[in-house]
Amino acid sequence: MTNDICPDSGSSTSTPTDNELQEHEITINNKYYVKTKYHRKNESPMQIAEVLATRLNKDGNLEYYVHFKDFNKRLDEWVLEDRIDTSKEVVEMKLSESSPCTTPRDLTEFDNSFFSTSSLDESESLTQAGCSSQSLGVLEKKPIKSRVKNLDAIWFGEHYLQTWYFSPYPQEYTEARVIYICEFCLNHFISEKQFERHCKKCTIRHPPGNEIYRDGEISFFEIDGARQVTYCQNLSLLSKLFLDHKSLYYDLIPFMFYIMCRSDAYGFHIIGYFSKEKNSVEHNLACILTLPHFQRQGYGRLLIEMSYELAKIENKIGTPEKPFSDLGLLSYQKYWQEIIIEVLHRYHQFHGGEITIEEISEKTYIAQRDVLYTLHTLGIGSYQGQTAIRLTDAMIVMSKNKKRRIDRSKLDWTPPVFTYNQLRYTK
Ligand SMILES: [Zn+2]
Repeated sequence: MTNDICPDSGSSTSTPTDNELQEHEITINNKYYVKTKYHRKNESPMQIAEVLATRLNKDGNLEYYVHFKDFNKRLDEWVLEDRIDTSKEVVEMKLSESSPCTTPRDLTEFDNSFFSTSSLDESESLTQAGCSSQSLGVLEKKPIKSRVKNLDAIWFGEHYLQTWYFSPYPQEYTEARVIYICEFCLNHFISEKQFERHCKKCTIRHPPGNEIYRDGEISFFEIDGARQVTYCQNLSLLSKLFLDHKSLYYDLIPFMFYIMCRSDAYGFHIIGYFSKEKNSVEHNLACILTLPHFQRQGYGRLLIEMSYELAKIENKIGTPEKPFSDLGLLSYQKYWQEIIIEVLHRYHQFHGGEITIEEISEKTYIAQRDVLYTLHTLGIGSYQGQTAIRLTDAMIVMSKNKKRRIDRSKLDWTPPVFTYNQLRYTK
């Protein structure tokens, strides 16, 4: 199969002839109006998009990889020429004329039957990441080496998952466009036959570490990046398919990984994980992911809650590493709002009077700046000369309406102690 992908080059691939290019008038790095599947109701389907690469598809037709302006990169896609309007000159609004919020538009804005639920984050109903998210370092556009998604999809166990972003799998794998990944050992395979052969031999049924938590079908396993190098590398490659900003691939020694699984008679199926730098004073979490087929089921919240439960045992008030991805910010906003409303409501019921930001932080292990940020998102204001927040019934119901929670009594964990060599970065 031909896969002539030419990202970021000054001109189109050499595969099409010059005549074809002139006829199409579509050039790499140029912007055009392109028909999108993701427009809002009452909005034109023709949106400004940058052409990043071309290739011949399996039917021998030329297609173009496009990034829609102001849309999240996970909406980038390969389109045929008939969706690109080359007749109209692109007119871009100046920054001051456009929306004051620069957070890229996301899947969660659209009601569109093209999306499977697996494409959506569980936190879609939350407050949108607005301009204030800038203060928390939400990831914005940045130069990225590879802007073109190199795998179309993966088979993960029995699940077919469309990928969102580039991941540095070896080239021979990316030429396959779709690869097969064992959901237990995370090894990857180019062909279905290789994968089936592996599944018959693979005896691993849970992540290679200690089980530190079990509540019914939910378990957490603790993995040391210095000891389970191959597993953690495979986990990082897999994660990058669904995380735009993640840069951790091979330097895994200074990190611990906490893998959440759902068990059945066949084994422990990975739902998601978070990583944590071993000797970080400030950060209680480095990277977090819920796999797409488990999103929108409350599992992201469970991962965040576990990171704070570990911090409580360590007696360290902390904050997750920034910048956040857009979906990461939404998940954290929701978690912080729920926990802080719960604390404020309880404090008001039993004590009344005032509570300081420092006290909220001490009760929740949420860093003071995250508390302050959350209070602003909840509508902190000045009432009768005092700084206060008005808790509505809806807010209190929201904070209690949790599908899943960590049961701390079921957590069996002692903070690991590391030697100097176990903490070092490889350079
Ligand atoms: Zn395996």
